[in-house]
Amino acid sequence: MKFLINKKVAVGLIIICGIIIVNVYVAFTNLLNFSFISSVVIIGVILLVFFILNQEAIIKKNKEKEQLERTDATAKEQLKFTDATAKEQLDLTDATAKEQLKFTDATALSEKLKGVAKDEFSAMITHELNTPLVPIIGYCKMLKTSMLGRIDQEQLEAIEVIEKNAKRLETLITDIMDVRKIDLDQLKFKIDALSLDEFFSNLNSDYRKILENKKCQFIINPYAKNLVIKTDKSRLRQVFDNLISNAIKFVPENKGKIETGCMKENNKLVFYVKDNGIGILQEKQKNLFQKFYQIDTSERRSVGGTGLGLAISKGIVEKLGGTISVESDGKTGTTFYMKFPL
Ligand code: ATP
Ligand code: MG
Repeated sequence: MKFLINKKVAVGLIIICGIIIVNVYVAFTNLLNFSFISSVVIIGVILLVFFILNQEAIIKKNKEKEQLERTDATAKEQLKFTDATAKEQLDLTDATAKEQLKFTDATALSEKLKGVAKDEFSAMITHELNTPLVPIIGYCKMLKTSMLGRIDQEQLEAIEVIEKNAKRLETLITDIMDVRKIDLDQLKFKIDALSLDEFFSNLNSDYRKILENKKCQFIINPYAKNLVIKTDKSRLRQVFDNLISNAIKFVPENKGKIETGCMKENNKLVFYVKDNGIGILQEKQKNLFQKFYQIDTSERRSVGGTGLGLAISKGIVEKLGGTISVESDGKTGTTFYMKFPL
C-alpha cells in the first residue's frame, strides 16, 4: 500500500522534527548555545528541503523532456507520413487539376468557338497573326539602316531573309482577310476619279525595272489619252498586281513578254494582262477563280503562292461592277480580261 503525503506537509514535519531533536539534544548536553544550534539546524533543514524540491523539479523537467522528445519523435514520424501523403495527394491533385485544366481549356475553347461566329474567329486569328509582324518588319528596317549599330554583309543578308519572309506572311494574312471580307460583303471601296494615264504610268515605273532584270518585255497599251474613270484605284491596282505577278511566274526565262492595257468593246472598258507563259488548260480554267486553287504540275510546283490571288481579283472586279475571265490554249500563254461597263 502506498502512502502519499503532501510535499509541503512533509517539509514542515521534517523542519519541526529537526528543531525538536536539536533542542532536546542541547537541553541534555548543554554544550552549545541553543539559539546558534537552532539556526544552524534550521538553515540545514531549509537547504535540505530546497535540495529535495530541486531534485523533484529536475526529475519533473527530465520527465517532461522525455515526454517532449517522445512527442517530438511521434510528431516527426507523423509529419513524415503526412508529408508523404500530402505529396502524393498534391501529385494526385496536380494531375487531376491538370487534367481538369485541359478539360476546362478544351471545353472553354470549344464553347468559345461555338459562341464566336466563324467569321469573327478567323478575323481574330488573322489579327493575332498580323500583330507580331509589325515589330518584326519594323526592327528589320531599323537593323538594315544600322540604326541599332553597324552590321556586316552576312548579317544584312540574314535580316533581308527575315524581312522577306515576314512580308510574305503579311501578304498572306492580308489576302486571307480580304477573301473573308469579300465573302461577308465587307470589303470597303473608295471610289474616286482615276486617270488611266497616271495608273499605267505608275504600273510602268513599278514593274519596268523588275522585268528588265528578268529580261522580260513589258508592253503597255493604254486605250486613249486623258481617259478618266470612276473606280477604287488601290483595289484595281491590287488586281493588276496579282495578274502581273502570276504572269511573271510563268513566262519563259529571258524570253518573257507581258502586255497590259485597255480597250473599248461593246460599250465596255476592257483591261487585260497577257503573257507568253505556259498557259492554262481548258479543263483547269473553270476552277481558277476558286479560293486556294492551284494548278498542280511539276512546272508550277516551284513557283510560290497560295491560290488566293485570283479569288480576290474576281471578288474585287465583281464588287466594282465588272467581270473577269481567262483565255488560254493551254500552251502559248494566257490572257486575263476585266470588263467594266462604261
Ligand atoms: P497567290 O496569288 O495567292 O499568291 P497563286 O498565284 O498561286 O497564289 P492565283 O493567283 O489565284 O494563286 O492563281 C491560281 C493558279 O492559277 C496559280 O497557282 C497558277 O497555277 C495558275 N495561273 C494563274 N495565272 C497564270 C498564268 N498567267 N499562267 C499560268 N498559270 C497561271
Ligand atoms: Mg497569284
